[in-house]
Amino acid sequence: MSDSSISQAPGHLLNLTERDQKVIWHPYTQMKNALPHIPIVRGEGVYVFDEDGRRYIDAVSSWWVNIHGHAHPHIAQKVAEQLRILEHVIFAGFTHEPAVLLAERLLPILPGKQTKVFYTDNGSTAVEVALKMCLQFWDNKGTPKTKILAFKNAYHGDTFGAMSVSGRSIFTDAFNSLLFDVEFIDLPNDDNISRLTSHISSLTDTACFIFEPLILGSGGMLMYEARHLDALIGACKKAEILTIADEVMTGFGRTGTYFACEKLAHEPDIFCLSKGLTGGTMPLGVTTCTNTIFEAFLSDDKLKTLYHGHSFTANPIACVASLASLDILLDGQTLQNIKRIEAKHAAFLEEIKTHTKVKAVRQTGTIIAIEWQTGNETSYLSSLRNLLYAYFLDKGIILRPLGNIIYILPPYVISDEDLDYVYASIKQALEEV
Ligand SMILES: *Cc1c(COP(=O)(O)O)cnc(C)c1O
Repeated sequence: MSDSSISQAPGHLLNLTERDQKVIWHPYTQMKNALPHIPIVRGEGVYVFDEDGRRYIDAVSSWWVNIHGHAHPHIAQKVAEQLRILEHVIFAGFTHEPAVLLAERLLPILPGKQTKVFYTDNGSTAVEVALKMCLQFWDNKGTPKTKILAFKNAYHGDTFGAMSVSGRSIFTDAFNSLLFDVEFIDLPNDDNISRLTSHISSLTDTACFIFEPLILGSGGMLMYEARHLDALIGACKKAEILTIADEVMTGFGRTGTYFACEKLAHEPDIFCLSKGLTGGTMPLGVTTCTNTIFEAFLSDDKLKTLYHGHSFTANPIACVASLASLDILLDGQTLQNIKRIEAKHAAFLEEIKTHTKVKAVRQTGTIIAIEWQTGNETSYLSSLRNLLYAYFLDKGIILRPLGNIIYILPPYVISDEDLDYVYASIKQALEEV
C-alpha cells in the first residue's frame, strides 16, 4: 500500500500509535529513534489507561500540571457548564465573570500585595509578560535598565525570552547566539550567600531578577533554602532590582504551602503561574504584579501601554477550570493530602539515602529527587535515563528521570498504597538497574 493511499484511508487499518507515527512530531523527542508513543484513552484520579486497558500511575502529574488527578468530576462539571454559557470572547474591550472572579480569588492568596492579574495561556508566556513588565517599567519611568539576573540551571520556558533567562543547555544550544544577554548566578548556600548579596548590591543596570523559588525543576530538581532566597530578594530591593517569582511549577501546593514564596519574609514584585492553575485541565497563564508596577504603565502617553496579548487570553473555560481547581485546593482535604505525601516522602528518603547507588536525595514538599550514582562514563548518563524510564513504565508507573535524577511529583490524590508501590519499585530499581 502506498503512503498516499494510507493518508487518505480511514485509520482503521492502523492502530493509534502507527497513525501517530505518520503525522505527529512530539515535544522534546528525537523522532528518529523514538519509542512508539503510548496511546492513552482515559484518565481517572492518579491513573491513565492505554488502548489495551493497561493502567499507569501518573507519578509526574503529566509534566507537573495535574494536581488533583485526571478527569476530576468537579472540574469536568464546571467546564461542561461553562461551554454552554460562553466558550470564549475577546478580552480587550470585553470582560467576563470567570476571569474577574478568578483574579478576585487568586490575588488574596498570593504572598504579599499582588493587585493585578494579566492573563496569558501558558507558563512561557506568563514569563514573557513578567520580563516585559519589568523592562518596560524602568523604561516608562525614564530610567531604562536592560540587564536581567537569573540562576544557572534555571528553566523558565521555551519561547525566546523565557529561553534567554533559562540556563544555557542542550535545550538552548541551537539558539544560544540569538538569546539576549543575561547574568547567571549560582544557587545560594551558606558559603556564597554574602558574596552573592554584595555582588547584587553593586549592580546598577539590572532591571529584574527572575527565579524559581526553592526548587529549580527542569534543571534537575535542585533545591535551595528559603532564607537564602530571602537574602537575595532583600539585596535586590535595596539595589532597586525588581523580582519575579516563577511559581509555574511550585504554585498551588507543590512545596507544601499554597505558594513557595509563603516561606519568605520579602515579597516578590511579580508572580508567574500556570501548570497547576487549571488543575492540569487546559492551558492558562497568569502574571500578577504589585500596584507600583501597574501604576508605572498608567499614562496619557500611549507608548507607556503594555502592548501584549494572546488570542486565548483569559479563556473563560480555562478560568472556570481554575476556579474549580481552587475549590478543591482550598477545601482542607487537599492540604491534608499534601502533608501526608510530605511525611511519606521523608520516611522513604530516610530509608534509601545511604544506598550505595544513591548519590544524593532531596525533598521540597510533595517533590522528592533521587540522584543515581553514575561513575565517570558520560554516555552512561543518557542510557541510564532511558533504562530507568522503560523500567518504571514496565511496572505501570510514569516517571521521567532528568538524566540520572529520578523525581516523584504526584497528584495530591495519590493513595498511600500507590505511593508505597512507587517507592517499592524505585527500591527494586536500585537493586536491578
Ligand atoms: C514548565 C515551566 C515553565 C514553562 O511553562 P510552559 O507552560 O511549559 O510554557 C516556566 N517556568 C517553570 C518554572 C516551569 O516549570
